[in-house]
Amino acid sequence: MTAALTADPPASRDHQGRELHTPCGRAHSNTDTSDVAGVPRRCVRGGTCIRLDATVTPAHSDKELAEPNFKGFGHHPLLSYCDNTGEPLAGMMRCGGAGSNTVADHLTVLEDSIAALPPASRRRLMVSCDGAGASHGLIDRLEELAARPGYQLVYSVGWDLGARERAAISQVPEQAWQVAIDHAGTLRERRTEDACPHARCAHERCWQEQAHVSELTGLLREGPGGDQLAGWPPSMGIFARRERPHPGAQLSLFEAHDGWRYSLWVTNQPTSQRGWRANPAYIDATHRVHARVEDGIRTGEDCGIGHFPSHDFAINSAWLAVSLIAATLLAWLRLPALEGDLVRAEPRTLRYKILHAAARLTHSGRRRRLKISRTWPWATAITTAWTRLSALPQAP
Ligand SMILES: [Zn+2]
Repeated sequence: MTAALTADPPASRDHQGRELHTPCGRAHSNTDTSDVAGVPRRCVRGGTCIRLDATVTPAHSDKELAEPNFKGFGHHPLLSYCDNTGEPLAGMMRCGGAGSNTVADHLTVLEDSIAALPPASRRRLMVSCDGAGASHGLIDRLEELAARPGYQLVYSVGWDLGARERAAISQVPEQAWQVAIDHAGTLRERRTEDACPHARCAHERCWQEQAHVSELTGLLREGPGGDQLAGWPPSMGIFARRERPHPGAQLSLFEAHDGWRYSLWVTNQPTSQRGWRANPAYIDATHRVHARVEDGIRTGEDCGIGHFPSHDFAINSAWLAVSLIAATLLAWLRLPALEGDLVRAEPRTLRYKILHAAARLTHSGRRRRLKISRTWPWATAITTAWTRLSALPQAP
């Protein structure tokens, strides 16, 4: 199979309606979008979603600033991903003992992430940060960014479960816990052990809800004990999620006694809004999709993230930057150029099917030709991708 690679690509090429210059490319592709058309995308309503996550990368040999931490021994880089496109936006190499909620690091990576977005995509932002990320410094900065005229920013940041939060949780009446939903809007429930044999029955006793959500803001702000959120912005609300723990999960004494596992987060998403967007279950689902960033980090390992080659911290920092560029290039190969399963293929699959495919580039006259074996199952995907990328407007 041969594809002509012209220096001057035809500008009239039909892109099947894809909007290539928004960070929502994944949602605009003509593939199955059930994963991206769920709650979170509707919640950000065309905005751009930045997710910050600290990840622990193990070191198996002596490396500068590799230190013991809660997951073993290694470094503790802080990364940020654009949830719309799955591309990394920024990253910071950090020593192994770096705290998971170090304010200065979070602020730097946040600013770098926003700077990495095209200006038009910075107007409506959602920022999420997992773990106990809620520090005064980070929340204050997010509130500042949210208050800029002409800009919108919604944040959701993990919050520590302390004594006052436990006290508040124990006061939440049972009926105030509402069943949680997942990213696709499906209820989090499971068949009970003594359920009837009809797997899709509607008997109440045959189903057990697995996770619930409730708001704690009122209890913490105005509950007994006075204003316990003094100093925190008035627009900030606190939510709790409780889940049935997995067998063998490590629980705190409070959780073991209570039978649920709790996670808390704060958001400035206005609950005074009407409709489903102000519903705690939806706000929770928006926050929970944060797990997708962990997927980006996992598959990013195939681009080199975490496989640091040197003893030298500076060299490893450069390596991290290059790994993130590789992951970005793959994201922008998938979004505008690939189709079908390849849109979601992991780096390892792309390497086998596309990047390592044997091909020859030849020049004759003023034309370049790419020769790929006709028998290579993904030859069409490769030539289609090339033609689409060539048709994009070139940077001046
Ligand atoms: Zn039943």
